[in-house]
Amino acid sequence: MDKGKIRLYDTYQGMIRPFKPIKDNEVDIYYCGPTVYNYVHLGNMRPAITFDLLSNFLSEVGYDVKLVSNYTDIDDKIIAESIKEGKSEKELSLFYIKAYEDCLNKLKISPLYYHPKASEYIDKMVDFIDDLIKDGKAYKAGNDIYFRVHSVPSYGKLSNQNLEELEAGKRIDVASGKEDPLDFVLWKLTDDQGIKFDTKIGLGRPGWHTECVCMVDDVFSSPLIDIHGGGFDLKFPHHENEIAQSLAHNNTTLANYWMHVGFLMTGGEKMSKSLGNSILAIDVLSRHLGEAVRLFFYQTNYRSPINYSEEILEECDKKINKYLSSIRRASVSLDYNNIKTDDLYDQEIYEELLEALADDLNTANALAVFDKAFKMLNSNSKNLDKLNAILNTIIKMSNVLGFKFNKYSLTDEERKLIDDYNKARSEKDYSKSDLLRAKLLEKNLI
Ligand SMILES: [Zn+2]
Repeated sequence: MDKGKIRLYDTYQGMIRPFKPIKDNEVDIYYCGPTVYNYVHLGNMRPAITFDLLSNFLSEVGYDVKLVSNYTDIDDKIIAESIKEGKSEKELSLFYIKAYEDCLNKLKISPLYYHPKASEYIDKMVDFIDDLIKDGKAYKAGNDIYFRVHSVPSYGKLSNQNLEELEAGKRIDVASGKEDPLDFVLWKLTDDQGIKFDTKIGLGRPGWHTECVCMVDDVFSSPLIDIHGGGFDLKFPHHENEIAQSLAHNNTTLANYWMHVGFLMTGGEKMSKSLGNSILAIDVLSRHLGEAVRLFFYQTNYRSPINYSEEILEECDKKINKYLSSIRRASVSLDYNNIKTDDLYDQEIYEELLEALADDLNTANALAVFDKAFKMLNSNSKNLDKLNAILNTIIKMSNVLGFKFNKYSLTDEERKLIDDYNKARSEKDYSKSDLLRAKLLEKNLI
C-alpha cells in the first residue's frame, strides 16, 4: 500500500491529516500507560489495543515502529494503597504491572519496544525541573515546585480552550502560594511517609505530568516524536501540561500527532475507578476470549465512546469461534492434501483491509473486509489453490488486526481418521462412513 494514503486524526490540530513521520522509515509512538496501584478496568485496555493495532498496521506497510508506553509507579494513590495493603510501594506496583501484562498477553498485544517506569527517571526529572526553575518557567512556592503556565502563551490549544476561559471562575488557593490557579505541581516537596528522593531541588517526589516528557526525550533520543496518545481523559490537563513543559524546555510540542482514544461507557457514564462503576479487565478476560474483546472494541471507531455490553461480548466470542472453525476446516483440507505454500495470497482484498486502516484506523470497515475474506474462504472449499491463497490472506489480516490466528495442522491420528472416512466412502460402506463422519464433525475437521 502507498504509505502516502495514511491519514490520522490529530487532536492538536483538530482534524484528520495525512500522516508523515519525521524520519522516512521509522515511526515513534508513545502512549501514557496506567498508574499501577490497582487492577485496571476494561476501558484502560482500549488505548493498548488501539496503539497495538496502529503499530501492527504501520509495521505492515513498511515502517520500523518503536512503540513505547510507561508505567506510573510513583503516585500518591500507590502510596495510599501500599499502606492499606501493608506492602512496599515497589512490591505493590510490580504486582499490578504483572496483572496488567497478563491482560496484554491475553489480548495478544505485541511486545512493546520499551515499558519505562517513572521510578527509573528521577534524575532526569530533577534535572528537567531544575532547568525550568533556572529559566524562570517554574518556581518554588509553599511546599511544592510549580510550573508557570503563563510562560507558555499557547497553553490550552490541545483541549481547545484558551487561558482566559480556563482561568474563569478559578481562584488561587492562597495557602498553596501558587501564582496562578492553572500552575501545576512538578515536584512535591515532602517529608511524609511515602517514597521520596533527596535531590538538588529538595526532598520529595515528582508530580505525574513530568515523567512522560522526560521518558520520550530519553527513550527516543529526541524531544519530538511522531505520535503521542492516550485515553480521551488525558487530553486535559495531563497532555496539555506535557505539551506546555515540552514547549518551555525543548521548544517542541512533544509529538507531531496527538491521538486520543474514546471512553468505555457503562450505564450512561464513563467507566472509571473514581465513579465506582469499573469492570475489571482481568474479570472480562476470564469470561471472554482476548480476540473477542478486541473485536468488541473494533466495532466502534477508536475515537468514539463505546457502551460496555456483556451480550455483545458474548456475540464476539461466538464470532471468533466461527472464524476459528472456518480456519480449522480450510487448514485441514489443505494440510490433508499437502498444500503448504504460505506466500500466495489475495493481494486485492488484502489491500482493501490496509486501505480501511489507513483511513484513521477505520476498524468497522476493516472488519467488513475481514468478513468478506471469510465468505470467500467458505465458498471456495473445493478449489484448493484458491482456498490456500485466501487462507493465507486471512492469516496475514489477522496478524495486522492483532487476532494472530494460526493455521491448524493435522495430527497423525486425525489424518488416519480422514483416510478411513474416505476409504469407507469409496467402498460405499455407508454405516462406517456415517460413524466416521460424526467423529470428524465432532472434532471440527470437516
Ligand atoms: Zn503521560
